[in-house]
Amino acid sequence: MRKARAAENWVQHLCLSHGLAPGLARQVQVAAVQSVALYGAELWWQGQKDRLAGIQLMINRQARAITGMLKTTPVGPLVREAGLAPAEALLEARQLRYTTRLLSLPENHPAKKILPVSFREGDQHAQPGEQTPGNRRWADSSNRGPWSLGQHLARQLASILPADPSEGFESTIQTTSSQFPGQIEVLPGPEALAAAQSLSPRLAIWSDGSRLENGRCGAGIAWQEPGGTWKTQGIPLGKGYEVFDAELCGVVQALWVAWKVGDQRPVTILLDSQAAIARLRHTQPGPGQALAIQAHAIAKGLHATIQWVPGHAGVEGNERADQVAKQAAGKPPGRGPKEISLAFACRARTEAVTTQKQRWLTKELSQRSQQGQRIYRPQKNWRLDPTAAVAPKHLASRYFQLKSGHAAIGEHLHQIQAQEDATCKGCGLSRETIHHLLFECRRWRHQRNKLYRDLELDGVMRPTAAEEHPQGRLLGEPRATRALLQFLASTSVALPRAHLQRTAERARRDDEWGLEALEEAIRTGEG
Ligand SMILES: [Zn+2]
Repeated sequence: MRKARAAENWVQHLCLSHGLAPGLARQVQVAAVQSVALYGAELWWQGQKDRLAGIQLMINRQARAITGMLKTTPVGPLVREAGLAPAEALLEARQLRYTTRLLSLPENHPAKKILPVSFREGDQHAQPGEQTPGNRRWADSSNRGPWSLGQHLARQLASILPADPSEGFESTIQTTSSQFPGQIEVLPGPEALAAAQSLSPRLAIWSDGSRLENGRCGAGIAWQEPGGTWKTQGIPLGKGYEVFDAELCGVVQALWVAWKVGDQRPVTILLDSQAAIARLRHTQPGPGQALAIQAHAIAKGLHATIQWVPGHAGVEGNERADQVAKQAAGKPPGRGPKEISLAFACRARTEAVTTQKQRWLTKELSQRSQQGQRIYRPQKNWRLDPTAAVAPKHLASRYFQLKSGHAAIGEHLHQIQAQEDATCKGCGLSRETIHHLLFECRRWRHQRNKLYRDLELDGVMRPTAAEEHPQGRLLGEPRATRALLQFLASTSVALPRAHLQRTAERARRDDEWGLEALEEAIRTGEG
C-alpha cells in the first residue's frame, strides 16, 4: 500500500496541477495507481472491511482528480461520473476474473488445482485421493475450516452463476496448437454477402447459434439436397452456454454432415459469428477449445472452407439456420454432461459486476435528499462521459460539479456557509440555482439561445416551461454534453472563486506539459 500511495501522489500531482483532460487522467489513474494498490487482490481479498474502506478512499481521491468534483460531493455521483468501479465491485471483479482464468487453464496446470476438484469437474469426476465424490465442502457457507482460497473462489463464482455448476465446467487441455486444416474466409460485409449469394447451393451448409431470453441455447444447420429441398438439423443445448458455444456446435455438426456424404467435393460452411470463426483458427486452451479440436479433426478429411456471412441480411440459408437454431433452443437438451461453458461463466461474471455497481449506486443515491435524487441522473452506461472525457479539465470539472449539484453556485455556497446568501452573481436578483443559471438568468440570454440551438443540432429536446427538472435530463443525457460544455465555456456559470480560478488558468497553461508527462507515464506503466 505504501508503493500505491507513492504512485498516487505522483499521479495526483500530474492530474491536478497540470490539468489533464478527464479521459487521460482516468487512464493514468487506473494504470499507475489501481494496478499497484490492487496487486495480488485475487489472493488476499475475502471481504476485509478495513482494506475495503482504504481502497474506497483511494478511489474517491482518484475520482476527484479525474472529474475535478468538489470534496463535498457525495461518493455515488463522484465515483460514477469518473467511470470508476466502487471498491467492492472492483475487488470482486478482479477475483472473479482470476477464477475464470484458472478454469480456462489446461487440465494438468498446477495453478488450476487451487480450485476444488468437485467444483472444476463436477461431483462425479473427482479423482480418488483428491476429494471424495460429492464432497462439496466449498459450497457450504457455514464451513468453519481454515480459510481456503480455492473454496472461497469457487463459492464466489458459484454464487453469481445463473446455472447449476454441480456438473463442473468446460475443461481445456495442453495441446500443440494446429491451424484449421482448410480455408477460413472473412471478407468485408458487402463482399461477404455477395460471395455467400453466389455460392453453389450444392456446396454450402449454413450454420447458426441462438440464445433465448430465458438463457437457453441451441444450434441449427441448414443445407440443400441435390433436388433443391432444404434439410435442417437442430441441436438443443439448454442453459449454461452462450451463442458462441452454439455457433461452434453448429460448425462441428455441419462438418459431420459433410463428412458423412463421403465424397471429395469441397464444402463451405457459412456462419455469422466472427468470434466463433476466430476460435476455429487455432486449438489453444480457452473457451471453445474442445469444439475447435473436434472441428479440426473432422475437417482433416474434407476440403472445407469456413466462411463468414453477415447475419440478418436476408440470405435464405442463414435465415433457415437461424430459425432452426431458435427452435432448438426452445427444446430440452439431450442427455450427456451438462458442464458450464467458459464463455457462459465469463458473461455471468461481467453481468454480476455490472449489477453490483448499479446496486451500490442506487444505495448511495437513496441516502441523498429527495431534491438531490431528482436532479442527479446518471447516464446509462457506466463510463466517463466521452465528450467530457476529452474536454479541457477546467471546463469538464465545472460540468461534473453542476451535475452533482456541488458547484460554485450561490445556492450550494450558501448551503455550505461559504457565502452569506444565495444571490445570483449574474443578475443579482434571484436565488442562484442550477435551474436559474441554465434556463432563467438574464445575464446569459444570448449564450442560452446558442445552447438551445446546439441542443437541437445534437438531437436533444430543448427544455419547455412545463418540464419539471430539465437540468437533470440535460445533465444526464450524453448527447447534451457538447452543448453544455460550450455554454459553460462562454459564461462564468459555476466558475470557482478567485484562487480556484488561478489554479484553473495555470492548469490551462500546463496542458501541453501534461500530455508529455502522460505519454511518459503510459510508456513506463506498460513497460
Ligand atoms: Zn441570475
